[in-house]
Amino acid sequence: MTDLAGRVALVTGGTRGIGLATARALADAGATVVLTGRDETRAKEAAASIGGAVTGRALEVGDASAVSALVRAVAKEHGRLDIAVANAGVLEDALVGMIREDLVDRMLGTNVAGTIHTVQAAARAMMRRKAGSIVVLASIVGERGSAGQTAYAASKAAVANVARSTAKELGRYGIRVNAVAPGVIETDMTAHLGERVLADRVEHTPLGRLGTADEVARVIRFLAGDEASFVTGQVLGVDGGLVL
Ligand code: NAD
Repeated sequence: MTDLAGRVALVTGGTRGIGLATARALADAGATVVLTGRDETRAKEAAASIGGAVTGRALEVGDASAVSALVRAVAKEHGRLDIAVANAGVLEDALVGMIREDLVDRMLGTNVAGTIHTVQAAARAMMRRKAGSIVVLASIVGERGSAGQTAYAASKAAVANVARSTAKELGRYGIRVNAVAPGVIETDMTAHLGERVLADRVEHTPLGRLGTADEVARVIRFLAGDEASFVTGQVLGVDGGLVL
């Protein structure tokens, strides 16, 4: 298993779902983990549910200066930042004719701007040590498109290109940047999709089921650690073979 002893990791949106599973997976491998959530109490409760060297902090990823301040504080307190997982994200469905401006703002503000803020702040903290690994959360929907999810799909295509572009910039500093592109994973985010849609997705998934947050977390942990030391700029599907 990936050994992350002595490493310091940040996971945004770590109060539930894939973020919480990732914080746990990184901690299980020996990392010191700071997970964040919009609500401080929930972030602290999530950290306590994992235990060990995991702490919870409040963070709104759409706020660039808050992200920058939090990442600087984490790097100062722990002396380094080795791993950053830009996981925080939101999904709201709407057919194209029904998309309101505020929905577009929310999708782009959290999924795109929030990811860029996190990657930027993490890269600044990692550059001095000329080492680090950043993982961002794209989606199969961003690679293929999905009816009723235009704004989300656009935001996740952008996230994939944050990874591809920053990998090109940051390689010279020893920083790797990769994305995972999950298929349909059983979390609060997909709970609203309804039985008919979920059954249709399962039917189009060769492995014949939805994925779990732990299955995504283990791939993120692989990309975060030294076993993926020559992997950068990749968008890795974790989707059971789903064909959209
Ligand atoms: P989730 O809704 O269960 O959790 C999302 C987390 O992000 C929560 O902790 C939430 O509080 C946090 N968050 C949302 N907006 C935020 C903001 N502005 N600032 C700070 N934190 C914020 O979702 P999930 O299913 O665990 O998804 C995690 C990531 O994986 C997201 O980026 C999502 O788009 C992506 N993803 C999920 C699936 C899936 O099927 N669940 C598929 C593809 C991609």
